[in-house]
Amino acid sequence: MSEPILGIDLGTTNSAVGIVDSGFPILLANEDGRRITPSAVWIGKSGEVEVGSKALRRRAVEPERVVTSIKRLMGRRASEVGGNFPLTVSTGDDGLPLVLGRSPEEISAEILKEMKRIAEWRMEMPIRKAVITVPAYFHDAQRAATKRAGELAGLEVVRILNEPTAAALAYGLDKLSDHSRVAVYDLGGGTFDLTILEMQDGVFQVLATHGDTRLGGDDLDALLVRRIEERHSLGETSGAARIRLMEEAERAKRTLSEADETKILLPFFDGDRSIEERLSRAELETIAAPWIGRTLRHCRQALADADLKPADLDAVVLVGGSTRIPAVRREVAALFEREPDVSQHPDEAIALGAAIQSGVMSGALRKMVLLDVTPLSLGIETFGGLMNVLIPRNTTIPCKAGEMFTNAADGQTSMRVRVLQGEREMARDNWELGNFEVAFEPGPKGRARVGVQFKIDADGILEVLARDTATNNDTIVKLGNAAVNVDDEDVGRMVGESVEHAFDDMSERIFTEARLKAEELLPAVDAALSQGLALDDERSEIESAVADVKTALASGSAHPLKVAVQRLDHATEALAARLVEKAMDDALERKLSGD
Ligand code: AMP
Repeated sequence: MSEPILGIDLGTTNSAVGIVDSGFPILLANEDGRRITPSAVWIGKSGEVEVGSKALRRRAVEPERVVTSIKRLMGRRASEVGGNFPLTVSTGDDGLPLVLGRSPEEISAEILKEMKRIAEWRMEMPIRKAVITVPAYFHDAQRAATKRAGELAGLEVVRILNEPTAAALAYGLDKLSDHSRVAVYDLGGGTFDLTILEMQDGVFQVLATHGDTRLGGDDLDALLVRRIEERHSLGETSGAARIRLMEEAERAKRTLSEADETKILLPFFDGDRSIEERLSRAELETIAAPWIGRTLRHCRQALADADLKPADLDAVVLVGGSTRIPAVRREVAALFEREPDVSQHPDEAIALGAAIQSGVMSGALRKMVLLDVTPLSLGIETFGGLMNVLIPRNTTIPCKAGEMFTNAADGQTSMRVRVLQGEREMARDNWELGNFEVAFEPGPKGRARVGVQFKIDADGILEVLARDTATNNDTIVKLGNAAVNVDDEDVGRMVGESVEHAFDDMSERIFTEARLKAEELLPAVDAALSQGLALDDERSEIESAVADVKTALASGSAHPLKVAVQRLDHATEALAARLVEKAMDDALERKLSGD
């Protein structure tokens, strides 16, 4: 028998584990008989740990020792967390966040250990391997951190799988006819993605993926809490009071997915004051409208990215507990102009898909190839601080791409390769995943030849290779840990900002490219003119073009500079040819006289 592999959905709010047993993918229930286990970890004063509903129950007594939503901190730096986390986050020596003295990877590992334990207990055998899912929007650092969490839990992580791809498998979309297109709308507790897949020759291609790593059901709970606080003049609550409010808000929200009205009940909440109020589904929908609107914006962007209209899609599937909300279903149906497929349990689909993928990999199910895409473009910084994209956003992985670079100045002995992720034209506006120095023999400007190659493996992890072609010396950098150095803002915001700044960015790129060209041309033209190489009838046109370029440079505007540089380039064509000729004659003469 082939070695079994688990499929694990490591969710922000809940986690689940599955496996292929006797040819069928199944989810494995915990001791409470539930196939879903809360992603909650209690860490006691002397380091003892409890996971799942046992941990949640401790929240009433020791709220400050129960960690939830740890997925939000995975692969992030402490400085990026801000006030975005329910518990106190401290900063470790390496700048990484610590909660109750433990890293997000260690805390996630506790959840994964629990998933492994449930599976081993149910299957009555040891299991060492797993496929773990992550949101499509997770960048390198977050994927690498998830993989390490698996290893800390004693699992060999054979694949990091995008959640929407897993969901598509669970919905059996592989059985659709060729060129069918599907949108997966995944709104869970803490993250949102919209992914568009296309079936091609029996294989899933991801056409586009958009989302927000800080958008989920928790945020709607928080909106509801704010409303309760305002209504009852509670001020901003914290600690145990806030947890009580959040729990009651979440309960009311869930009830309103089924009922038209519910009651918010908080006995003896504020001293001896009790809170009691009615909340209707319509009121919740008013509160939820902007929150749902945020998800719809990502849907529209994904459609635009894939260059599709809603009518081009063959199915829309819903994943994640928050898609149980009727208003969410309604809005998604309206936007995509079709009723979404809700045939799977929205909170089990991802784990089921992960189990199917693990079955494919272990050989327990027939072979099926899955293709994922890069959520953001990857590239390096080049002259003038420009972003040079090597692998564009939405490229199918695994993939490889390379380009040749050279030295910008005479006598330069090394070059710094800055690896960037993002959609902006200027390097400074993208995130730096890491950087390293490549040494080469000093020589004149433009002499060195350094090949830079990006390789992304099936888990979405990036390896960068830089080769000095003169010596064939390779520098290889795996961007596992270095990727943590990303100045990470929300990935969705990155894409949003690139749209927002599209015109400014493009004109800055045009200006920079034209400036670099001008800086090359001006001294060369100056030298040629002072050597008296220009013919009289050329000279005045060249001088006027030079003046134009200088004026445009000073004005800082892109288009006039581009036009002026083109004019100068054109005016000096004949002169440049004569310069080359003269240089060759001089060289020949030197050679002859030297011999
Ligand atoms: P997931 O991350 O997919 O497990 O989704 C968890 C999120 O779904 C949480 O924010 C829950 O509050 C939310 N959720 C679960 N069931 C319901 C429901 N019946 N109605 C509304 N939200 C729900």
